[in-house]
Amino acid sequence: MLTVSAALCRVGHVASFGQLSAAGLTGRQLRAAVQTGGINRLRRGTYACAHLHPVLADAARLGAAVTCVSALRAAGVWAGNDRRLHVQVRPNASHLASPHELGSTVRYHWERPRFPAVTPWWTGPLQSLWQAMHCLDEENAIAAMESAVHEGFLTAAEVTRLAGLAPRRLIDGIRRLDFASGSGNETIVRLRLQHAGYRVESQAFVPGMGHEDLVIEGCVGLDVDGRQWHGEDRFAIDRDRDIHVEGLGRRALRIRTAHIEDTWPHTLAAIDRVVADALREQNRRVGRVVLTVDDPLDALPQRYRRQ
Ligand SMILES: [Zn+2]
Ligand SMILES: [Zn+2]
Repeated sequence: MLTVSAALCRVGHVASFGQLSAAGLTGRQLRAAVQTGGINRLRRGTYACAHLHPVLADAARLGAAVTCVSALRAAGVWAGNDRRLHVQVRPNASHLASPHELGSTVRYHWERPRFPAVTPWWTGPLQSLWQAMHCLDEENAIAAMESAVHEGFLTAAEVTRLAGLAPRRLIDGIRRLDFASGSGNETIVRLRLQHAGYRVESQAFVPGMGHEDLVIEGCVGLDVDGRQWHGEDRFAIDRDRDIHVEGLGRRALRIRTAHIEDTWPHTLAAIDRVVADALREQNRRVGRVVLTVDDPLDALPQRYRRQ
């Protein structure tokens, strides 16, 4: 016979008493499973197994559905820095639990949802991103939209559809949407550089070294360390790339989260300087008919080449 816990797993790790009794389980069986620790009773009439994501469990405890930045973050999508639990309150909600029981602050969304909920405890990907586009500032909203595609949370077509429903303040950022972006930090830096007037390409392919996060004015590579990159392996890979970039005679910079969040004016000033130097150097080389291409010989007019 199916255990209570296995029955919960089958329906997505959380269920109402109604769902479980429709599956043939009795109140007595549920109480026994709660007592032995096999399942958790999140609130009256709501049960979960041990696999339920903690964010969904918190929302269910409140009697609401996880949405917005909390749903994005739980799915590994860029969600900015707001760590409050964002929940959608159902129009017919009654007896919302006190957030004090969770030990975290809660942002309630009382507005009528734009898209139907996927389950009573999760509003679903479309509603979550639509809500986040309204909750986040411009650069984080655009980063969330690009990250949603990168992480496979939504398709490019779905995000493009949401872009048509975006608040007006996002129009400029939406014009610059680029689903090639590899991380939220990368999107934010690209947007800031574009606002500063630079021509910036995402995930540009550089012969002999693969993809660079951003290439500014076609001459300076910029690697933006995502928050997920840590550890020995990454350190070694980064150093290998650095030496290779230098070998190609290209200018390259590597920045990390603190350079974006805490010291951006200083970071931008450094980028300005490196790009100006690289452009000057490029012009000088062009003047001498030695271009920065894969094989410098390719840039030379035919008459200069050895036959
Ligand atoms: Zn489960
Ligand atoms: Zn929100």
